Amino acid sequence: MKTILVTGGAGFLGSHLCQFLLDKGDYVVALDNFLTSSGGNISHLLPNKNFEFIQHDIISPFYHEKKKVDQIYNLACPASPVHYQKNAIRTVKANTIGMINVLGLAKKHGARIFQASTSEIYGDPLEHPQREDYRGNVSTIGPRACYDEGKRVAETLCFDYRRQHSMEIRIARIFNTYGPRMAFNDGRVVSNFIIQALKNQDLTIYGDGRQTRSFCYVSDLIGGFYKLMNADNFSGPVNLGNPLEKTILEIAELVIKISGSSSKIIRKSLPEDDPRRRQPDISLAKARLGWEPKISLEDGLQKTISWFQDHLS
Ligand code: UDP
Repeated sequence: MKTILVTGGAGFLGSHLCQFLLDKGDYVVALDNFLTSSGGNISHLLPNKNFEFIQHDIISPFYHEKKKVDQIYNLACPASPVHYQKNAIRTVKANTIGMINVLGLAKKHGARIFQASTSEIYGDPLEHPQREDYRGNVSTIGPRACYDEGKRVAETLCFDYRRQHSMEIRIARIFNTYGPRMAFNDGRVVSNFIIQALKNQDLTIYGDGRQTRSFCYVSDLIGGFYKLMNADNFSGPVNLGNPLEKTILEIAELVIKISGSSSKIIRKSLPEDDPRRRQPDISLAKARLGWEPKISLEDGLQKTISWFQDHLS
C-alpha cells in the first residue's frame, strides 16, 4: 500500500483521483484550501479508513511527519478561467511558492511528484494540433497570464529540481476535461451550457462559436494520470486529452440535443486572449503510456448531464 498525497484533493479532478487511488488500495492524504473546490466532492470518501483530509493552502509549507509519502500529485490551483482570473495573484503564488513547497516536501520524502500542467502553456497556439515540443504563444501580461505563465514556471521548477536534486518528476499537460463534480460556478463552457440547457435558459456562446476545444471525459484523464505517475523512465511533459476537436457551437448544439432542452443559443463578447483552436497531439501518450481516451463525447456528456440533473436544486 502506497501513501499518496493529492494537493487540490477536493477539486473536480482531485476528488476523482482520490477515489481512483483508494479503489486501487492506496492510502490517500488529500490537501485542499477550498478556494474553488468543495467539501461535498469528498464527503463520500471521509468514512474510508485509508483516506485522510487536511485543510491546507500549499502557499504555506506543509510537513507530513506521520507517514512517509511515496507519491505526490500536485493539482492545487484554481483552474477555470473565471476562477483563476478572480484569484490571479493567488494563482501565481500556487504555481511558484506552492510548487516550491510541494517539491520541497517531495524531496524530503524521496517521493515521486506528478505536476498537473496544462494545454494553456501553449497559449493561443500557432501550431495545430499541439505537440509537446511546441513552445507556445502566451501573453505575459494578459488576463490568462497568471495561470499560463504560472503553469509554465511550475514546469520549469520541476525540471530544475530534477536536474539539481535528481528528483522523480512527471508532468501532464491536461487539455479540457469535463464530467461529474465540475463546479457549478466555474464558468467553464461545458458546465455553463449544461446548467443553461437544464434550466431552459439561453446558451451563451462567446464570440462566433467557431473557436475549438477538445474535450476529455474525466475517468479517461484520471487513467492517464495513473499511467504517467507509474511509468518507468518517462517524465514527460506529455499531453493528456481527447483529440476529438469540436467548435463551441457544435458543443452547444450537442448539449441541447442530448438534454432535450428547448434553450436557444445567444452570442456574447469573446473574452480577451481566448485561444482560437486547441487540440492535443497524443502520439507521445499513446507510445510511452499506451494511453488514449475511450469515452465518446456523447456518452460523456450524457453522464455529465445526468449528474448535473441530480445535483441542480
Ligand atoms: N465559452 C462560451 N460560453 C460560455 C463559457 C465559455 O462560449 O458560457 C467559450 C470560451 O470563450 C472558450 C471556450 O468556450 O472559447 C472554452 O472555455 P472554458 O472557460 O471552458 O475553458 P478554456 O478552454 O478557455 O480554458
